[in-house]
Amino acid sequence: MAAHITHWINGKSWTGTAERSGEVSDPATGAVAASVDFADEATVDQAVASARAAFPGWRDTSLAKRVNVLFEFRRLLAERAQDVAAAITAEHGKVLSDAAGEVQRGLEVVEFACGIPHLLKGGHTRGAATNVDVHEVHQPLGVAAVISPFNFPAMVPLWFVPVAIACGNSVVLKPSEKDPSASLLLAELWAQAGLPAGVFNVVHGDKVAVDRLLTHDDVASVSFVGSTPIARYVYETASAAGKRVQALGGAKNHMVVLPDADLNLAADAAVNAGFGSAGERCMAISALVAVEPIADELVAKITERIAGLKVGDGRRNADMGPLVTAAHRDKVAGYVEAGVSAGAELVVDGRKHPIDGEPGGFWLGPTLFDKVRTDMSIYRDEIFGPVLSVLRAGSFDEALALVNSNPYGNGTAIFTNDGGAARKFEDEVEVGMVGINVPIPVPVSYYSFGGWKNSLFGDSHAYGPDGVHFFTRTKAVTTRWVDPSHGGIDLGFPRNS
Ligand code: NAD
Repeated sequence: MAAHITHWINGKSWTGTAERSGEVSDPATGAVAASVDFADEATVDQAVASARAAFPGWRDTSLAKRVNVLFEFRRLLAERAQDVAAAITAEHGKVLSDAAGEVQRGLEVVEFACGIPHLLKGGHTRGAATNVDVHEVHQPLGVAAVISPFNFPAMVPLWFVPVAIACGNSVVLKPSEKDPSASLLLAELWAQAGLPAGVFNVVHGDKVAVDRLLTHDDVASVSFVGSTPIARYVYETASAAGKRVQALGGAKNHMVVLPDADLNLAADAAVNAGFGSAGERCMAISALVAVEPIADELVAKITERIAGLKVGDGRRNADMGPLVTAAHRDKVAGYVEAGVSAGAELVVDGRKHPIDGEPGGFWLGPTLFDKVRTDMSIYRDEIFGPVLSVLRAGSFDEALALVNSNPYGNGTAIFTNDGGAARKFEDEVEVGMVGINVPIPVPVSYYSFGGWKNSLFGDSHAYGPDGVHFFTRTKAVTTRWVDPSHGGIDLGFPRNS
C-alpha cells in the first residue's frame, strides 16, 4: 500500500483529513510510492498561526540557547545524512552519491548558521555627539515562508531554514509536492534537536498553498526557488502584499571553452555538469560554447565519455538516474525531437542509451547536440534534463557576447589556461556565479548563492551574508545619557555637536 505523507504543524504530524492530495512516484520504477496531502487555505493558516505563536518565544531565546539547537541539528543531520539521501533518491531519482552530496552542501549552511552570534553583531559608535552613542540591532522578521523546488528537496530548504531560524524567525516550508519526504525528515531532526514546536512547520501542496503564503498577513518574508515564470509571479505577488521577497528562478548555464584549455579536463567537466542529476540542476551546464578551432575535438571527447555513462536506478551503481516524472521525461524527449527538426546535429541520442532499471522508470539517456544556433528552442528554453547543446564561436568576444545576451544569468564557467582571458570574463560576464575551470560554481556557505537577470527576482541572494541580511531587519538606536549638569530647552533640529 502506498505511504501517506502529511503536513508537520506545531511540532507534530497533522491529523486532519485533506480534501486534495497528489501522487509521489519512485522515478526508477514508475510505481506510485505515496500520496501526499495538499494543504488548503485553512491548513496553511494553521501552520502560519503555529509559526506566529512560536515566534516571540524563539526571538527572545538567547543566542547561546539558539546556537545549541543548531549544533545539535547539525550533529543529527550528519548522523542521518544517509537516510535523508535515501529518501531523496527514492522520490527524485538522483543517484545516492549525488543525493548525499546535496545533504552535505545543506549541512554546510547549517555550519554557517552555527556562527550566528558573530554574524548578528551590530556596529556601535561611542560618542557620535557629546554623550550620544549609536548602535544597531539586527532583529528577526517574524514568520518566514520558504517554497522550494523538486530538484534539491533537502539542500534548497537548507539554504534558507537554518539561517532564518538562527536569526530568530519561525518558518513555514512548502516543499515540492513531487518529493516531499526529505522535508519531513528535516522536521523530525529539528524537533529532536530541541527546536520548540511551531518554529519549523511544513505544509505540502501546490499553487493553493503557495498563494495563501504569498499574501498571508502574518507572513513577513518569502524565499522562493523554482522556475522563472513562477519566481516572477511569486516576487510580484508577495512584494505587492508587502513581504520581503527573494525569488530564485531558472537558468541556462553556459560553459565557455577557449582553444588553450585542457580539453580532457573540459570534456570531463562538461559531462559531469551536463548530465549529473540528469541535468535537473539549476547550475547544470546546458550550453557549451566552444571557441574554434577546438569544437570537433571537444565534441569527440565528450561523445566518448557519454558512451561510458551508466544510466539506471540510483540505488544501484549508476552514474545518472531517471527523470523526476513521466511528464517531465516526455517534455525533455520532446526537446530532443525539436532540436532535430530545427536542424541541430544530434551527435548522441539519449533515447537510445542502454538503461539498467525497471522498464516503467522515467528514463532518458544523455543527449548531445552540436552546431546549435541561438534561435533554436533547445538553446532558448531551460530544458532541465540531460541535453547538452554545443554552440561554436569564432572568438572569445563572440563567446562572451553570446553568454551576455542570454536572458538568464545564474551560473557560468570558463575553461582556459589564460589568466588574462579568465580575468576579463570574470569582469565582463553578466552572470551571478562564475567558475574558472570549475563547472558548477555553487558558492561555499559563507558566500551567497544567487543569479542575475531572469534567474533571481529581488536583491538578496541565498545564505551567507545576504541570507543573514534577508532574515533580519536593522534598527539604529541613538542613545543619550545626559550628564546631570546638562539641561535646558532647545527647539532647534537636533545637530551633532
Ligand atoms: P516549479 O517552479 O515548478 O516549482 C517550484 C515551487 O513552486 C514548488 O514548490 C511548486 O509546488 C510551486 N509551484 C508550482 N507551480 C506553481 C504556481 N503556478 N503557483 C505557485 N506555486 C507554484 O519548479 P520545479 O520544477 O520544482 O523546479 C525546477 C526549477 O527550479 C527549474 O527552473 C530550476 O532552474 C529552478 N531552480 C532554480 C534554482 C536557483 O537557485 N536559481 C535552484 C533550484 C532550482
